[in-house]
Amino acid sequence: MTNRREFLQTTAAIAGSLILPKAVLATPALNFHFIHADTLNSWPVADPVQWSLEHAHEPILARAAEGLSKLTANDADRIIRLVVRRCSLNLLELQPARVLVDHWGSHRANLKPFFKAHGLARPEIEVVLKDQKHETVITLTGDSFLYGVPIAFDFDLEIFQSKRERRFVNESDDGMAVPGTSSLFAWNGLPDGSIPWVALKSAWRRSGGESCLNCTGETLLVNFGLRQVGVFNRSGFVEHVCGACRRSFRDETVDVKAWMAVNLDEVVRPDAEMVWGRRVARTTKGHT
Ligand SMILES: [Zn+2]
Repeated sequence: MTNRREFLQTTAAIAGSLILPKAVLATPALNFHFIHADTLNSWPVADPVQWSLEHAHEPILARAAEGLSKLTANDADRIIRLVVRRCSLNLLELQPARVLVDHWGSHRANLKPFFKAHGLARPEIEVVLKDQKHETVITLTGDSFLYGVPIAFDFDLEIFQSKRERRFVNESDDGMAVPGTSSLFAWNGLPDGSIPWVALKSAWRRSGGESCLNCTGETLLVNFGLRQVGVFNRSGFVEHVCGACRRSFRDETVDVKAWMAVNLDEVVRPDAEMVWGRRVARTTKGHT
């Protein structure tokens, strides 16, 4: 944990330009952006201190207006602290290979959309999160702001890709279990929870992949089913991966039975559902 002096020294050292004389900013570049922590609206500013003083009367700065009226451009640090604290704003400074983020405690914006739009979600970008409330500094890398989670190192992406390419072809091993699947559904002849290739092939035939949230790649369905939530509840999920950025995306808001009705041919829908460790036959596959 840093103390206040260390925090100020650290932030001054890395922020730099905020405490430089105005003359240094004679040719302002739009390296600063405000982003609202709730709406995620963002806008570039040449000089965040000057911008705050000049726009103090506007609704977005209403809660800082009184304080701003007592400050001048010489109070740079206090002005940034004030608008970040009172107005749910984050201030981002884009430096070469580095992004500095001023925020107030938990009022930190979801930075993923901004990082994607500006091409910043990369491992070589250093991201310095400066929490003005707790006076702490956290340093991350830009890829921390990618959507999804990294694919497991031993995930066999190639077998999924080659199976998908042959989704219109019947193969002798299509009835076998897809590696890594677990679903709380069961198919006759397969281990509990395992999904057969025929089911994935059916879904692949019915709908293409979706656009990756991170890159220009297209995602590939690799798993679906129910998962146990607490003792008594179960909830659906559908999981896709992007081979280009090697991230996995799991939608846990989906109604998986409705999803199966749309995405799986009737003949490949599960034969049973796992309930308290036992297979309970689904009376009719067509009735999901
Ligand atoms: Zn991707």
